[in-house]
Amino acid sequence: MRNKLIMVATSGVLIFAGESLTPGVPLCGVEVVVQRTVEPIPGIGSVRAKYDFKADVIYIIKKPWLMTRSKYRGLLIHELIHATGHQSRLGRVDLTKPVDWYIEEVIAERSFYLILGKRFNKAYINRHPLNRDLTAAEWALVEVESKRAVQWIYEYTKGVK
Ligand SMILES: [Zn+2]
Repeated sequence: MRNKLIMVATSGVLIFAGESLTPGVPLCGVEVVVQRTVEPIPGIGSVRAKYDFKADVIYIIKKPWLMTRSKYRGLLIHELIHATGHQSRLGRVDLTKPVDWYIEEVIAERSFYLILGKRFNKAYINRHPLNRDLTAAEWALVEVESKRAVQWIYEYTKGVK
């Protein structure tokens, strides 16, 4: 059985909920490993969740007691969006070539806001260590790829994929 993504957004776009992450049941085909802590990523510091493109696995901490469910879902959705870029899905990230990880980060955040149906808040990506101004062409790419990512998740949860 698939981990269900449940509509929570009002935007008409998909969305998620997966209240329960069932061990061994992939989320949109992606293995999710819930662990007590996530080891720090060099150069970025300690993180609470990450997607490993090579292993095609999402690592996420067990929900801290003080963290809201929506915040926790947000972490998971962000990583799930990264996973849409895997070669087996949209192929947005090709590890055999140099990858612009900042663009990928912006796509993940932009997609997340699309899913929420909210105005894009650049606060998160502005704090990103790789933060820089994007060109108009790069923003256009972000828009296209974010919509593709959201559509992919939507179609997967509808059983189209
Ligand atoms: Zn990210």
